[in-house]
Amino acid sequence: MKKAIKISVIIIGIILIPVIAGIGYFYVAYNNFSFEDEYKVNESVLSYFNNSYEEARKNFRFKSDELSSQYLGTQVFKLPVNSSKDTNLTIDFCFIPGSENADKIIVLSSGVHGLEGFTGSAVQLFFMDHYINHELLENTGVLLIHGINPYGFKYIRRVTENNIDLNRNSDIDNKLYTSKNEDYPRVYDLINPKGVVKTGSLANRFYFIKAIKRIIKESMPVLRQAVLQGQYEFPEGLFYGGNDFEPQIENLIPIIDTICKPYNVVFAIDLHTAYGERGKLHLFPNPVEEPVKKRMEEIFEGLHIDWGDSDDFYTYSGDFAGYIGKINHDKIFIPMPFEYGTMDSQLTIGSIKSLHVMIMENQGEHYGYNSKEDSIKVKSDFLEMYYPSSDAWRSKIMHDTKIVLDQALKRFCELEFQ
Ligand SMILES: [Zn+2]
Repeated sequence: MKKAIKISVIIIGIILIPVIAGIGYFYVAYNNFSFEDEYKVNESVLSYFNNSYEEARKNFRFKSDELSSQYLGTQVFKLPVNSSKDTNLTIDFCFIPGSENADKIIVLSSGVHGLEGFTGSAVQLFFMDHYINHELLENTGVLLIHGINPYGFKYIRRVTENNIDLNRNSDIDNKLYTSKNEDYPRVYDLINPKGVVKTGSLANRFYFIKAIKRIIKESMPVLRQAVLQGQYEFPEGLFYGGNDFEPQIENLIPIIDTICKPYNVVFAIDLHTAYGERGKLHLFPNPVEEPVKKRMEEIFEGLHIDWGDSDDFYTYSGDFAGYIGKINHDKIFIPMPFEYGTMDSQLTIGSIKSLHVMIMENQGEHYGYNSKEDSIKVKSDFLEMYYPSSDAWRSKIMHDTKIVLDQALKRFCELEFQ
C-alpha cells in the first residue's frame, strides 16, 4: 500500500513539476514582457514624432501651409469633430492637386484609431518633407487626412468618444451596423471583464492561463477572427463598430468624393500601429477582389503582403481603406493599410499581452480603476503599445517606410492600371 502511494506521488510529481515550471516560466515572461530594440537610432527622423495631438496637428498644419505656398491650388482645411468634452477637435486636410495630365491620386490617412495617429502623423510629416515634389505631382495628386479620430488621438484612446472602433465603422451603407459577428458572444467574457481594474489581481497576473486554455479549445485563428473581426451588438465591448455612421465617417464622404472626382486611379494608404512583428512595417490589407489584388501586387512587387486570410492575420468589416474604395466605386482603386508592429503579436505571448492591454484599458474606461496607480499603469502600457517611446523603434519603422514608399510611389506613378 505504502509503495503504491509512493509511486502515485512520483507520477503526480513527474506530471506536475513540468506543468508548474511551465506556468512559472510563462508567468515571469508574461509579467515582465518588454523589448530592447537594437536598431541604430536615426536622429534625423525623430522630430517627426510628437508628444501630443495638438503638437502633431500644429506641425501638420505648418507643413500644409508651406506646401500651399509652394504648390498652386493646394487646399488646406479642417473638419470639426463634435465632442461633449472638447470644442477643439478637428480632422485636418492638405490636398495638393496633380498636374493637368495627372489622372491618379494618393490618399494618405492617419489616426483612424485615435492614438495610432502619433505614428501616422509622423509618417505623414515625413512624406510631406520627402515625397511631395513636381515629379510626383506630374503623375498624381495627393490628399493627406490627419487625425480621423481626433478624440482618441488627444485622449489616448483607440476608439471614438462613443467607444466606436472607426476601422469597423467605415462604410457608405448603414447595413453594416446590422451585421452579426456570430462568434463574438462566445469570446465576450474573455475580452470584456466587468468591475474596476486591479492590475495586480490574480485574474490579471494569470490572464495568460485563461487565454491559453481558450486558444487550445478554439484554436488561435478561430479565436483571433472572432475577437478582431468587429461586432455591432455590445457598445461597451472591444471592437465595437457602432449602430450608425460615426459623424466623421458620414462627413468625410462628400469631401473624399469631391477631391477624388477628377482622378481615375485612387491609391489609399491608411496608417496603423500595433499589430504584427515589432519594428516592422506590415502591408496588411483585408482580402480584395482579384483585379485589385493584382494591382496591389504590382505596386508592392517583391515586398511581403500579409493577406488577411492567412493564419497569422484576420479579416474585418467596416475598414477605412475599403471605405475610400466604396466612395470611389467607379474608379480604379488600390488600398493598402500600413501596420507598424509593436508587440510581436505574431507570437502567442505577444498576441495575448496586446489583447490584455486593450482589455484593461477598455474595462478601466467603463468601470474605473481600483487605484490611481492602476490607472497610470494601464494607460501607460496602452500608450506604449500603440506608440512606442523607443527611438530605435521609431527609427526602424521610418526606415521601413522609406523602403516601401520609394518603391510604391515610383511604381504607382509609372504603371498603367486596368
Ligand atoms: Zn489601427
